[in-house]
Amino acid sequence: MFMGHTYLIKPFDPWKSPLCTCPEKYSLNPYTGCSHRCIYCYSTYIPNFYRLRVKKNLLPRVEKDLSKLPKRSPISMSNSSDPYPPLEKKLGLTRGVLKLLKEYEMDLMIVTKSDIVTRDIDLITEMNAAVSISLTTLDKKLASKLEPGAPEPMKRIEALRKLHSEGIPVILRLDPVIPGKTEREIENIIEECSFVSHVVSSTLKLRFDSLKRMIENFPDLEYYRQLYAKGEKIQNSFYLPREYRWKILNRVKRACERYGLSYAFCREGFDFKAKSCDGSHLIR
Ligand code: SF4
Repeated sequence: MFMGHTYLIKPFDPWKSPLCTCPEKYSLNPYTGCSHRCIYCYSTYIPNFYRLRVKKNLLPRVEKDLSKLPKRSPISMSNSSDPYPPLEKKLGLTRGVLKLLKEYEMDLMIVTKSDIVTRDIDLITEMNAAVSISLTTLDKKLASKLEPGAPEPMKRIEALRKLHSEGIPVILRLDPVIPGKTEREIENIIEECSFVSHVVSSTLKLRFDSLKRMIENFPDLEYYRQLYAKGEKIQNSFYLPREYRWKILNRVKRACERYGLSYAFCREGFDFKAKSCDGSHLIR
């Protein structure tokens, strides 16, 4: 599927993970870095990742890439930074990209933690698109520690509701489930979001930098050092011990089954029946 050389729209390949079940798709990040500053972020091995930067000549470069791709190429926006940082309200760069994606008739999966996405409902309803919103907790105080730059949980749920009420397929990313911090909320979060069309979830994976940050912010998580040492190391990530992961993922599965929800898991190797892990099967 993948075409010749592109500049900003790249084949999606998450660290060449052997556990990735994503369908072939492209990835596009309108911004470099991310100001949500989630302390568990998987991308902070990239220098200065928490410093949001604007890409030079973003729109002409995106358009150049789009001119090389066939219509209805699947594009995911974004996978390693959020397309709706607060600055987007002022700059409208992601909105500019959406207009181009619409013009070139691409299939689009939006992945965000921000309710700013609802500003663009007018464009999204006219596209072959679905929207995923990530949520880790319903606890506003905990969220402000885990994801200090991101909108509070209820705003994200309201955004999911609004998009859903406009007929846009919506996906809950219950991701990551954080052992000892958010795992107790699995059932409540799924109940609160039981109107969505699909749930994708995963357990917290750590690298050296994110492990250090988690413990600095939550000294009670010092035990992670021993816990994760007992798990597997896959590519550059430390996973929880398999038994613990399976316990968490089974709870997600059972909670989704209770509400008749389609569900899948991200880079876990845990079986699911949904047509895609990321919810791209929902794109019309
Ligand atoms: S929103 Fe995603 S990319 Fe941005 S800091 Fe949080 S985890 Fe990292």
